[in-house]
Amino acid sequence: MVKQQAEHRVYSLVHNLGERKRQGEALKIVVTGCMIGAAARDKTGHYLRLLRDRMPEVDEFMPIEEIGFDHAPLRTSHREAWVPISNGCNNFCTFCIVPFTRGREISRPYNEILEECIDLLQKGYTKVTLLGQNVNSYGADLLLGAENIQVLRDIPGSDYFTKQKRSIKELPTRYKPTMVKHLGKLRIPTLFPQLLRDVAQLRFEQVDFLSSNPWDFSDDLIKTIAQNKNISRVIHLPLQSGDDDVLRKMNRWYTTEEYFDLVNKLRRYVPDVTLTTDIIVGFPDETEDQYQNTYKFCEKVKYRKAYISQYSPRPFTAASKMLQDTVDHATKERRWKSLDTLINKPSLRSMAGIHKAI
Ligand code: SF4
Repeated sequence: MVKQQAEHRVYSLVHNLGERKRQGEALKIVVTGCMIGAAARDKTGHYLRLLRDRMPEVDEFMPIEEIGFDHAPLRTSHREAWVPISNGCNNFCTFCIVPFTRGREISRPYNEILEECIDLLQKGYTKVTLLGQNVNSYGADLLLGAENIQVLRDIPGSDYFTKQKRSIKELPTRYKPTMVKHLGKLRIPTLFPQLLRDVAQLRFEQVDFLSSNPWDFSDDLIKTIAQNKNISRVIHLPLQSGDDDVLRKMNRWYTTEEYFDLVNKLRRYVPDVTLTTDIIVGFPDETEDQYQNTYKFCEKVKYRKAYISQYSPRPFTAASKMLQDTVDHATKERRWKSLDTLINKPSLRSMAGIHKAI
């Protein structure tokens, strides 16, 4: 659901399966995941009706909550496994549909994750990837209660957090939460550095994690990566824009200066680190100068790879409600190509002698 294109791919996949069903194949088509999460949260029922109209072949729409963490995924690889550690997100970036499709962040119990990893190791898996929309805040809801993080966000000056701090101290000493920034202003406790360390010390050949926000990437996390050689040295650090005004409009709680400081700190303590990122071009009202700021910032950071998207308004999001999709398709396409060439096809860039954005 993050991109319109991906949504359309689902429609065409279901249509193709429907075709097989129409030709007599005994299929039951069940759709779940983000798409149904959005429909389940839309109290008007409009979105579910829309999905039914678009995919009449579907037998069942199953809300993502019904899947939860309790069903082991069907794994096709016997070496590499993705292990979900949390679901949902509390950050509400203005372009992003995830908080509406997946709901608020829910962390999977710590021991359950460790038990699954131990089981995977015993079955011969050599690589695990810990997955969450924002792994850096893993555990905050376990420590504070999911509802309370929202209370903190909604009531400025609330003394809730001061009260909660006392209960954090009462946790068993084995759990040592790391405090990170939440939405740039409040501090919340996370257990992610400790979880990552515990999983790495099980001695998988490689431990990876996805995705991390730049604003709550803690020093503790950097230390954990530096001290455990089997933690992947390819870190995904979504930038989204290299312009501070655009970042503010995106409700992203860091400046480019803070982001660059983090990059430098990572490179200082983990010298063999390489970075990948996500970038959106053509966010509403993105000017040429703002785009050039992104381009120059990417030149400075030197990413190994970038997943670049052209902005498209997604239902329910603040950007789709409050901002006009003002950047035309040709401009988005041009910005996408020039960034793609800079980051993902550097050989093409030097062949063509392109040294700056077109
Ligand atoms: S942090 Fe990521 S998943 Fe959460 S709202 Fe922002 S872009 Fe979406």
